[in-house]
Amino acid sequence: MSNIFNIFKKKEPESSSKENWEDLKPIMVPHKRLAWFPNTIEKGSTPTSSKFSGIPVLSKDEKWPCCSNCNEPMQLFLQLNSQDLPESEKTVFGKGILQVFYCTNREKECEVSCDAFFPFSQSTLVRVVDYNDDIIASPTKSPVTDAFSERQIIGWESMEDYPNGEEIEAIGVTLTDKQSDLLCDLEYPLSKDKLLGWPCWVQGVEYPGCPECGKPMKLIFQIDSEDNLPYMFGDVGCSHITQCESHKDRLAIAWACS
Ligand SMILES: [Zn+2]
Ligand SMILES: [Zn+2]
Repeated sequence: MSNIFNIFKKKEPESSSKENWEDLKPIMVPHKRLAWFPNTIEKGSTPTSSKFSGIPVLSKDEKWPCCSNCNEPMQLFLQLNSQDLPESEKTVFGKGILQVFYCTNREKECEVSCDAFFPFSQSTLVRVVDYNDDIIASPTKSPVTDAFSERQIIGWESMEDYPNGEEIEAIGVTLTDKQSDLLCDLEYPLSKDKLLGWPCWVQGVEYPGCPECGKPMKLIFQIDSEDNLPYMFGDVGCSHITQCESHKDRLAIAWACS
């Protein structure tokens, strides 16, 4: 009897103990990153401003980027001017202006026919431009059908961010199921639109490989469904803008949903 009693006694604290953040934090802290959440206002701004949708900076020699599938002008999803980034993150993608174009033509269903959830789709364009003032010539009006209204990024707010259970395991840290559950309960990695931090993966960990060197590309920005853009990736999916750390001109947008 006493043996059985001891077994129960031993098991009891484990089954009733709830994992708490104070215990998990020392394991996670070495993998802490800052994620930066944009403060935005609905407002048209100058072509070089950082924004969701609106008018991108273009040079006088170029046309608004068009989709390779339907040949229509693509929505500007995001434009980030490196000068507008938080002080500590100014060089995160290099000098210049990062632009993300994405075709939302529903009639031609470019998103589906071009597999736009995969990186490097023909109906997307992600690039960094570095035009000098002399050659900037952006249109005053968007040629995009049903263009989303512009939200200018006017500042940033940082929050601590942590990887999910699968990603931290890939780094070599094994969490118990309860610890993984706690990370989920605390909603790490953080959702919503954010600069840097850890990707909020809907499916598994899916860093695109650089077409040139094959290395996993690095997260630059996360665009979530219906946060600053009135757009849903599949069924409440989440998209990630990534860049190769060695080949800075290799950039991609890709997304997944459940
Ligand atoms: Zn298209
Ligand atoms: Zn590369």
